[in-house]
Amino acid sequence: MYVASVTESEHRITLEAMVDLHNALADTPTANPRSILAEAGFSRAPDASAASLHRLTGRIENIEAFLAQLPDLETDMASARVTEELTELPITPSIVDHGGVGPHIHWTPPTARFDDQVMADLMMALAHEVCDNGTIRFGICAAADCSRLFYDATRNRSKRFCSDPRCASRTHTADHRRRQSDMTL
Ligand SMILES: [Zn+2]
Ligand SMILES: [Zn+2]
Repeated sequence: MYVASVTESEHRITLEAMVDLHNALADTPTANPRSILAEAGFSRAPDASAASLHRLTGRIENIEAFLAQLPDLETDMASARVTEELTELPITPSIVDHGGVGPHIHWTPPTARFDDQVMADLMMALAHEVCDNGTIRFGICAAADCSRLFYDATRNRSKRFCSDPRCASRTHTADHRRRQSDMTL
């Protein structure tokens, strides 16, 4: 059986958190990133200052258009943009072993501001993704009135909908009704 490495599963979780943050802030500009990041395992999130969360919100909003375009961007365009973001970040990698997950890389020192740490984690995960897979795993929800972003971690790239379960069920109901009305024509 194929088992994803710590680094691979961390990248997936980090990219899903990036997508969730982007979608939450696009839906509700006042959304608080704290719970999304805490759920994604960012251990500093519960105690992060309001100021750092506020800065983070602004920084996610600054890359909002880029993230929304990801599914359509060529790999070299996405790479150039990620590289541009990376140059702004205080990245000094170190290998740490804590929290029972085994050795893994921290991209920022413990003294980094929380928003710098989160942005470094997001952009490094995205950098690895772009190098490994390009932008093909990013997509826009197929539900009629939804334009949320998703990250497709399935092996056969079968994901069609965002993480809101209503999008899949609504679309399936609509497809079913359409098929039924086709049959009665
Ligand atoms: Zn860690
Ligand atoms: Zn959706």
